[in-house]
Amino acid sequence: MFEKEIRRKAKELLEAKTVDLVIGYTSGSLPFQARPILVSSPEDVGKLVWNHFARSNLARYLLPYRDSSKKIALLAKGCDARAVAVLLQEEQFPRERIHIIGLPCPGVISRRKLEEKLGEIKEEDFSWEENSFLFQGEKWEVRPFLEDTCARCRYPNPPLYDELIGEEKEPWRDGSVDYLKELDNQSREERWQFFAAELSRCIRCYACRNACPLCYCKECFAESDSPRWVNGVPTLSDNLFFHLGRSMHLAGRCVECGACERACPEEIKIGLLPLKVEEIVRENFSFEAGLSLEEEAPLLTYKESDPGEFIK
Ligand code: SF4
Ligand code: SF4
Ligand code: SF4
Repeated sequence: MFEKEIRRKAKELLEAKTVDLVIGYTSGSLPFQARPILVSSPEDVGKLVWNHFARSNLARYLLPYRDSSKKIALLAKGCDARAVAVLLQEEQFPRERIHIIGLPCPGVISRRKLEEKLGEIKEEDFSWEENSFLFQGEKWEVRPFLEDTCARCRYPNPPLYDELIGEEKEPWRDGSVDYLKELDNQSREERWQFFAAELSRCIRCYACRNACPLCYCKECFAESDSPRWVNGVPTLSDNLFFHLGRSMHLAGRCVECGACERACPEEIKIGLLPLKVEEIVRENFSFEAGLSLEEEAPLLTYKESDPGEFIK
């Protein structure tokens, strides 16, 4: 899927010294995995791959370069480009240091869903297309195997890019599958039971936070000693405090990429919290993060004429 074009573009940018490095994906050490790679030499562009297992949000890998002067190109799916747009709006990088190679996204496939449906799987049994795949000669649609966050994606196409490789795609989301909506349809008690069970399993490893391109505080409130907001030992109440706090810090900023959820070693549906907050922001402010560099983020701005109806 467009690997030749991606490698050609990366080589061109590195050879011309337009950028110092290219952030992309390479084959993982495990099957059905593509992991991030930083390529700084034109000789290494052959390591770049692009497939349905590009799970990480690559905007996260820009963050170590905030204080450097390096110019960086990155491959950007819809949600990666939205995260870059938020980072630019929040003045974490000047626009001229970031070169966005936009890639209309074919959706990230869940290995767990493949195994549940197809049983034992080996990479050599598959042949992949954008919307379908062959497994042992039989054709399957990609859609039922998408990660839950991708199945509800409305922006597979990068809203911001310097160049686009590939054809723009139709959004996956048609309302037929939405794990957030399923939760909305439950009673308060059922939702509490669900989250209490999920968050009781949280070992507070912070992999979700570390995968998020927009959780970039140099000192996270969860690890602050003074004041100490949460204890080191994971308990349900401290886990709740951490995850609700993180979701609130992302209000109007989360780009709904699901990278946090995919990073969780306990397979906790942790993306549901920031996604719900995002839905509330969308409904109340008609705003979605990372779609435009110009539109002001509602929770980062203040006007004297704001009605302030919530302060009674
Ligand atoms: S959320 Fe959308 S753009 Fe991001 S990986 Fe999933 S399908 Fe692709
Ligand atoms: S990645 Fe999972 S286990 Fe780790 S802190 Fe996040 S929710 Fe908890
Ligand atoms: S909170 Fe999760 S879904 Fe939202 S931007 Fe961060 S990683 Fe992506």
